[in-house]
Amino acid sequence: MFKINSYSEIDIIRKTLQDFGERFIEPLSSIIDKENRYPREIVREMGRYGFLAPTIPEEYNGGGLDLKSGVIVLEELAKYSGSIALISEVQGFLIAETLYRYGSRDIKENILPKIASGEVIGSFALSEPCCGSDAAAIETYAERSGDHWFINGVKTWITQGLYADYYLLFARVGSKKERHKNIALFLVKKDECIKTSPIEVMGFRGTGTAEVVLNNCSVDSDSLMAPPGEGFKIAMEVLNIGRVAISALGVGLAERSLAEAYRFLRDRKAFDKTIIEFQYIQFLLSDLYTLLETSRALVYKAAETISKEDVKEKIPLIAAVTKNFVAPTAVYIVGEALRLLGGYGYSKESVVERIYRDVKLLEIGEGTNEVQKMVISKHLLNKGLQKIFS
Ligand SMILES: Cc1cc2nc3c(=O)[nH]c(=O)nc-3n(C[C@H](O)[C@H](O)[C@H](O)COP(=O)(O)OP(=O)(O)OC[C@H]3O[C@@H](n4cnc5c(N)ncnc54)[C@H](O)[C@@H]3O)c2cc1C
Repeated sequence: MFKINSYSEIDIIRKTLQDFGERFIEPLSSIIDKENRYPREIVREMGRYGFLAPTIPEEYNGGGLDLKSGVIVLEELAKYSGSIALISEVQGFLIAETLYRYGSRDIKENILPKIASGEVIGSFALSEPCCGSDAAAIETYAERSGDHWFINGVKTWITQGLYADYYLLFARVGSKKERHKNIALFLVKKDECIKTSPIEVMGFRGTGTAEVVLNNCSVDSDSLMAPPGEGFKIAMEVLNIGRVAISALGVGLAERSLAEAYRFLRDRKAFDKTIIEFQYIQFLLSDLYTLLETSRALVYKAAETISKEDVKEKIPLIAAVTKNFVAPTAVYIVGEALRLLGGYGYSKESVVERIYRDVKLLEIGEGTNEVQKMVISKHLLNKGLQKIFS
């Protein structure tokens, strides 16, 4: 839909998203949160604009953007609703990207365009009650019988799990001792053998977080998207993109919070002055803004790095570094913005109260802060500091 090659074109896409946000998202963002309502009408509208799967080529109903421009879409959406941005992040950057990069011709021609347009909904089903950080320990089991697989297991915390028509499902085909080596990837269509139940979460409400139980689901051999071993590798590769994409949400959420605080402090009076006149407040805003711009620069650099095929081995590192910095930074900025709004910030009427609940997920989903540090330290120890910094 858009081809973004220069800064002025990025400005155009930002403006288009701002118009879209004001028109379609802002009127519903509080309702999505308060009523825990899945915004299907906006999902379809995002699909029409190419915002649901911004980085997928237009021939498959995507936005046709490069990764940097794609994360800018998420950043802008997050300013209006974290939930809407998370839906685009999961549907576009986890599901659509996996189907596009690793799917068969049939999947690309018949399922990907429906995912990118929002006609059907997808979920990325990796985490289980036993294990999230230690994803190589998952217990969902797939057993082959003739040209079919029978899958049993429980997935949890699955975003859009309540409404999904398709699940990208990671399951092992042998002993748990083999860890990642026998984890395969299946594309499983919603069926009666799959039962879902909602999980009430504090933020990103209306995104259909669910437990997904598979009870002897029979799927044909075409449902196997990646064989044992390859499945886990794909999960990790896609999560590298996800970690940068979800960091872009952090930038958008933090920017909106700062803007809310700034507007409030500019009008609010204390001790015969507007609060923004106090130098302490000006310095605090300066520091928060510096952290915001540092986060934004890191996200863009990571997106550009991932797009370069020749630096493949650096991708897990830059993705983990980005999330390790941006997630806690965004949580800090939003917390400070809420505090600067005084009692109003703590009120259910405040947008920043909602963002405060949303942003906390960034330190948990798609790898906790500790998991990012594990990835970074593994690279530092394996590759040697000298090699990394040369
Ligand atoms: C709202 C929401 C949406 C989600 N959406 C999805 C989704 O769509 N698909 C999906 O597959 N998953 C999803 N998740 C799951 C998410 O990815 C996991 O919650 C996350 O990976 C952490 O796993 P866990 O909850 O099992 O925590 P655990 O792995 O049990 O970790 C608990 C704590 O221990 C720490 N820890 C673990 N190991 C170590 C270690 N070696 N050293 C130091 N500290 C350690 C962790 O950092 C964490 O702080 C979602 C979660 C939430 C809350």
